Amino acid sequence: MKIQLAKKIGFCFGVKRAIDMAEDALETNKPIHSLGSIIHNKQVVNDLSKRGLKVVKRACDIKSGACVISSHGISPKIAKSISGRGIKIIDTTCPFVLKAQRIAKSMSDSGYNVIIVGDAGHPEVKALVDFVSKRAFVVKDAEGAKSLKLDKSRKHIVISQTTQSTQNFLNVVELILSKAPKELKVYNTICRDAEARQEAARKLARSQEAMLVVGGKNSANTRRLLEVCEKILKNSHLVETEEDLKKRWFKDICSVGVTSGASTPDWIVKRVVKAVKNIA
Ligand code: SF4
Repeated sequence: MKIQLAKKIGFCFGVKRAIDMAEDALETNKPIHSLGSIIHNKQVVNDLSKRGLKVVKRACDIKSGACVISSHGISPKIAKSISGRGIKIIDTTCPFVLKAQRIAKSMSDSGYNVIIVGDAGHPEVKALVDFVSKRAFVVKDAEGAKSLKLDKSRKHIVISQTTQSTQNFLNVVELILSKAPKELKVYNTICRDAEARQEAARKLARSQEAMLVVGGKNSANTRRLLEVCEKILKNSHLVETEEDLKKRWFKDICSVGVTSGASTPDWIVKRVVKAVKNIA
């Protein structure tokens, strides 16, 4: 069995930066909280929790110390409610996410409605919506954009959740254009890392008989990688750890490609590769 890794694998710089900042904060001996998971990887979050990070669901659960904001960003209203109670904010929002937030804010302040291509329930998108001072719409794909009722008297912009695929973004833009909006400005806010990772996975999947995408099941960029691989190769699977591997995936095949989400540590990828070797 030949196992090949995708060219782009391991933590992206935004995730690495967020973990480094959280680790630095944990050195201070203050109570350090994170509002939700700092990154979408259970194993990394568990490790940080063992070292003292308290993961809370609601801002009001933080009574003292500091709060680490995840790389996905946070709603400005929630950030204000936390800092207003004297709690220090350690903001690890990824610079690519910040760029999308700035565009959403400045363009809506200038009178544009904002169409966001993304997953409505994802923390990055929820926060992005709160930066919009005019109307915000979230659409998942071109199918979802069909039912969008554009106010033809208003100007619109379209931006993207950072981890969307370029093709999905383009499909939505094309559909919105077909509705003949008064004015539409398009901002490509897809992160370069996510694009490069998807392209590397796509290339690898074309030459393999099975593809494994290693990463958190709740990680948007990991799920996007799975979609990219599945379009090319049906025998593509998302695994969080080696325990998710199924023997039947590797029956009568000679090649397996492996890629990983931006929040997957190398040690999990290594363990998956080792387990595949033992199965084959
Ligand atoms: S995937 Fe891109 S946007 Fe998301 S944290 Fe990593 S570098 Fe930032």
